[in-house]
Amino acid sequence: MKTEVIRIDENNIDMEAIRKAGEILKQGGLVAFPTETVYGLGGDALNESSSAKIYEAKGRPSDNPLIVHITNMEALAGIVSYIPEEAYLLAEKYWPGPLTMIFNKSDAVPLTTTGGLETVAVRMPSHKTAQALIDAAGGYVAAPSANRSGRPSPTVAKYVIEDLEGRVDMIIDGGEVNIGLESTIIDLTGSCPTILRPGFITEAMLKEAIGQIDVDKTIIDNNSGQAPKAPGMKYRHYAPRGNLTIVEGEPEEVIKYINEKIGVLKKDGIKTGVIAADETAGRYLGDEVKSAGKREDEEAAAKHLFRILREFDDDEVQVMFAESFPHRGIGQAVMNRLLKAAGHQVVQV
Ligand code: AMP
Ligand code: MG
Repeated sequence: MKTEVIRIDENNIDMEAIRKAGEILKQGGLVAFPTETVYGLGGDALNESSSAKIYEAKGRPSDNPLIVHITNMEALAGIVSYIPEEAYLLAEKYWPGPLTMIFNKSDAVPLTTTGGLETVAVRMPSHKTAQALIDAAGGYVAAPSANRSGRPSPTVAKYVIEDLEGRVDMIIDGGEVNIGLESTIIDLTGSCPTILRPGFITEAMLKEAIGQIDVDKTIIDNNSGQAPKAPGMKYRHYAPRGNLTIVEGEPEEVIKYINEKIGVLKKDGIKTGVIAADETAGRYLGDEVKSAGKREDEEAAAKHLFRILREFDDDEVQVMFAESFPHRGIGQAVMNRLLKAAGHQVVQV
């Protein structure tokens, strides 16, 4: 398949190009596009065969459900069987934006889109190009992150092209995304709203809107003995090609430990990398040392993490170490992704 790559500026949208992309989706084709979180791999959410094509293009197991993207509340009513009160409160505050809510689905949504589940995940993105595309496609676009399954989610079009060229009809390049981590997912189908995946919309922000909420234990603790409620969370995810270890402890101890390890690895001719903060980056001896921003700036870490993991692959780094980041606020989401990327390999020093 030949993939057409086009550039669309969110602040000056080329509606002719959007119309063409929308037509591809309506015909059952695939279009990758920017959103405020990460790039998405879009297909018509109400077309059974489009969803099947998404799984194939991504190399994703078909029991891992897709998120349906919409642009207005009327559209929500068309795909769910019931809208609980909390959904209106959350939508009022955080839609459009990086929040996905899970509802009981209506018959309009094929089971291929939901990975066989009777529930459906729905998000209303705030990115203007994404909104224009969803409208042009008829209102319902299923879109997982636009990476090959298991790889770090793409935050720039370059990595979408790397993973999906030849596998999708079109890729829309909208530059670097704003947030850099996937949406927060909250399940509204149980007795208490439950966070299934942390993201930019934090636990505190959700509590502010609807009061009491639960958090799926498997989000941070890999040893909770439970199966994650969001099916996708059980798979290996976000992983760079090399081996990544998170090192936790007092900064001086962490630096000492990592530099000692790097010294040994270098002697064996192994290429090393470190994910650090601005304050400590200058202290490491790794071949590639990358800063995710200031230590106390969790939003910067969110924005840079996936790009850094991809760059390590570009640089053919074989062994990587990462400092740990504060778990508060969006830091919870950063650590959730970093732990998965490291296959939960953590050293305490
Ligand atoms: P991605 O689109 O790559 O960000 O992944 C979407 C994730 O949303 C999936 O991997 C699931 O973990 C989660 N998800 C989607 N639909 C549902 C659902 N109906 N119930 C629970 N989790 C869901
Ligand atoms: Mg993904």
